[in-house]
Amino acid sequence: MSASNASLVLVPTPIGNLDDITLRAQKVLTDVDAVIAEDTRVSGRLLQHLGIARPLIGFHAHNEHRMVEQLVRRMADGERFALVSDAGTPAISDPGFLLVRAALAAGVTVECLPGPTAFVPALVNSGLPCDRFTFEGFLPVKKGRRTRLEELRHEARTMVLYESPHRVLRTLQDLEEVFGGERKASVSRELSKLYEETLRGTLAELASHFAAKEPRGEFVIVVAGAPE
Ligand code: SAM
Repeated sequence: MSASNASLVLVPTPIGNLDDITLRAQKVLTDVDAVIAEDTRVSGRLLQHLGIARPLIGFHAHNEHRMVEQLVRRMADGERFALVSDAGTPAISDPGFLLVRAALAAGVTVECLPGPTAFVPALVNSGLPCDRFTFEGFLPVKKGRRTRLEELRHEARTMVLYESPHRVLRTLQDLEEVFGGERKASVSRELSKLYEETLRGTLAELASHFAAKEPRGEFVIVVAGAPE
């Protein structure tokens, strides 16, 4: 039995530990006509590791607008594609949304397999309420950053943010300034990797930790909602 009959299958890939690839992900990657990949070198290495040889098509922030139309036309004509990003679930702070929207508008069947993504383990590890939460992805770097932070100041749900090692300290300091130093939060880094760790504390404690210790790796910040 096929792992999916959809013409476009979004296939989550490991965020660190290669054992997190699912059996269905491997079946789909083996079955499709081609794999649409954010970075063909990164995904090429994963396919090689899995012993899967499929053609790769590059699809990234710089060409996605112009690629969407031809990819949708090819799927409408009968080809089946998998979409992968460098790590985690495609379309979650990664390319994918434009292709999904255009495929659905053209009547092409789309499916997203369940699988690795960074925000779920970070949220659950945080120990903060996860019955309701808001995924904020990356905060704007410059324009709109302050406005977004102000908008979130009274958000009652737990908030999940992605951040790079270069900006994590600044983001913790900005969150501390706008939300107050006593707000509870957690920082998870290197999830599923050798140096995985989750630190829990107040925003003030977490900011001073990373002011003293240079942040390394990939980060998810989880912040408690404002008291209702
Ligand atoms: N599509 C991915 C997903 O489903 O999580 C997210 C891609 S986004 C370009 C990359 C960001 O995800 C990183 O900057 C970091 O915030 C987060 N991330 C990815 N892998 C991670 C890991 N192993 N540990 C902690 N955060 C991670």
